[in-house]
Amino acid sequence: LLGKLKDPSLVVAKAYVGGEWVAKSDSGKSFDVTNPSTGDVIASLPDLGRAETARAIDFAYTAQKAWAAKTGKERAAILRKIYDLMVANADDLATILTTEMGKPFAEAKGEILYGASYVEWFGEEAKRVYGDTIPGHQPDKRIIVIRQPVGVVGAITPWNFPNAMLARKFAPALAAGCAMVSKPAKETPLSVVALAVIAERAGLPAGIFNVILSKTSSDIGKEFTENEKVRKLTFTGSTEVGRILMKQGADQIMKLGLELGGNAPFIVFDDADIDAAVEGAMISKYRNNGQTCVCANRLYVQSGVYDQFAEKLAKKVAAMKVGDGFEEGVTAGPLIDANALAKVEEHIGDAVEKGAKIALGGKRDARGGLFFQPTVLTGVTRDMKVAREETFGPVAPLFRFETEAEVIEMANNTEFGLASYFYARDMSKIFRVAEALEYGMVGINTGLISTEVAPFGGIKQSGQGREGSKYGIDDYVEMKYLCLSIS
Ligand code: ADP
Repeated sequence: LLGKLKDPSLVVAKAYVGGEWVAKSDSGKSFDVTNPSTGDVIASLPDLGRAETARAIDFAYTAQKAWAAKTGKERAAILRKIYDLMVANADDLATILTTEMGKPFAEAKGEILYGASYVEWFGEEAKRVYGDTIPGHQPDKRIIVIRQPVGVVGAITPWNFPNAMLARKFAPALAAGCAMVSKPAKETPLSVVALAVIAERAGLPAGIFNVILSKTSSDIGKEFTENEKVRKLTFTGSTEVGRILMKQGADQIMKLGLELGGNAPFIVFDDADIDAAVEGAMISKYRNNGQTCVCANRLYVQSGVYDQFAEKLAKKVAAMKVGDGFEEGVTAGPLIDANALAKVEEHIGDAVEKGAKIALGGKRDARGGLFFQPTVLTGVTRDMKVAREETFGPVAPLFRFETEAEVIEMANNTEFGLASYFYARDMSKIFRVAEALEYGMVGINTGLISTEVAPFGGIKQSGQGREGSKYGIDDYVEMKYLCLSIS
């Protein structure tokens, strides 16, 4: 890995606590990070526990006061420097990301710039955390509303977007005047540590951003939810773990920002532009090898265009190139681990057993390891696992439907409510369907909806809170109302 970087000092096998780099854990234990494409060990990192997490929280608690006392413009200046350094080092950050996570280098670079865009956006927003004045309810009363940082924030992030999922939390938290203790996924911690290196270089004061490295994250989650100095926990990951954290935080009424699982429907109506729908499905389904929480998971295609769509999609998918993320032209890297591979195989096996046909792929790739062939399934029905569970892999199950009412019912028949997509041309139908879909986000005639200027987030069991946009800062501030009596 180091040989591939312009600046090898971005790779640090240490945690970052109170502005100090921590090479050894209290327990002396460590854990390895591997490259999912080759299986090679990239780094051995200290495996921290509760005591070190509590220490980081103490540092953050102390440092946060001075950080919050700075003007928005002062905080903005540091966030701007972090943004500039992320962009200047985008190639190296993408190289680190591809090495530990496996996605194609071009996608990794896209992720770095996407993550950086949140740092830019919220740096700008730091100056605009406006309050309000309200006409008094009595002649002597003056009412003012101010918004203050919540304080110390714990952040737990997943491996599928190691940089961007953290940047989406780090940027609004720091902009608002909060301090953060982060715990990246054990599979992909180096991308977050590299961000700490950059933040330090940009002049972020010690203690404002901390990185706890840990193999068994449940202890860290407990410290975050039980330590009274932590005022907010922001988590991106599975609904299952989100539920655990919510239960753990109940005793201290922990404020939670949750970006959880999705089970995105992708609907193609008869009147859609089929070529555009195929393009959208490629991006929405196969980006990151199907390992995103907004990936199309269930593709519903209306009867009149089903065969045409299936054929065109399979043709496009057949042109994908599976391989190591650094190889030229590769569009599908390895899956993250053996469990992910097993789940993809299980979902395909279940569907085929219940009557689905494999239009393309369906097997492990000839390269072996964690590589799987991009797959298209036809004749999929609602009794199959793919109809209910998130596959998180490169499998497009195509369901056939007849009417608008039927497809809305099927699309909403899930406990999840993150992203949804549909393709249609009729204007009335576009509004009807957009309003009827029970999702936090709806892509209409597009398969790509993520941007820092819009509120990303889910309803139902896909989470709470929003990341990005002018609303994103709300997750990191408390409202306080001042009631003043004048004589
Ligand atoms: P994914 O399927 O993306 O791995 P997880 O919810 O398992 O989703 O993991 C997301 C993040 O949550 C990772 O950083 C992981 O280490 C962490 N995590 C997993 N289990 C727990 C837990 N019990 N408490 C706190 N964090 C956890």
